[in-house]
Amino acid sequence: MGNLVVSKDKFAPCPCSSQVVYHKCCKPYHDGALPDTALLLMRSRYAAYAMGLADYIMSTTHPEHPAYNPDLVEWKQDLINFSRGTSFHGLKINEFIDGDPWAYVTFSAYLRQGEHDSTFCEKSTFLKVDGRWLYQAGVLGD
Ligand SMILES: [Zn+2]
Repeated sequence: MGNLVVSKDKFAPCPCSSQVVYHKCCKPYHDGALPDTALLLMRSRYAAYAMGLADYIMSTTHPEHPAYNPDLVEWKQDLINFSRGTSFHGLKINEFIDGDPWAYVTFSAYLRQGEHDSTFCEKSTFLKVDGRWLYQAGVLGD
């Protein structure tokens, strides 16, 4: 249990695997700055999962996404449980197709849940709404 590989120390490497320290990488977005690109949003969402920042995940998910749960209390608890039960071993960006208002990121997320390897690959769709990138859809890959 727990995110043994992730530190909340602002001088620690960012969980999004950028090789940049957290406070110069995803922290500004977690603090409210708007990412310029869908790729930056995607990276900051991975880091937020790794750090258990459920509110950030919720506020950057488009209401059309199947994972969106209008019961915010329940959703937040589910996200916290997921983060606590998962260790986050890295993120690899395989493809980024920029656009406006639609953009696409294909990535591999390296995760473990207990003894279980729950690594997955996904092509995510992002939609820019009123200047804010939102995670709108995702299709799992190999
Ligand atoms: Zn980052």
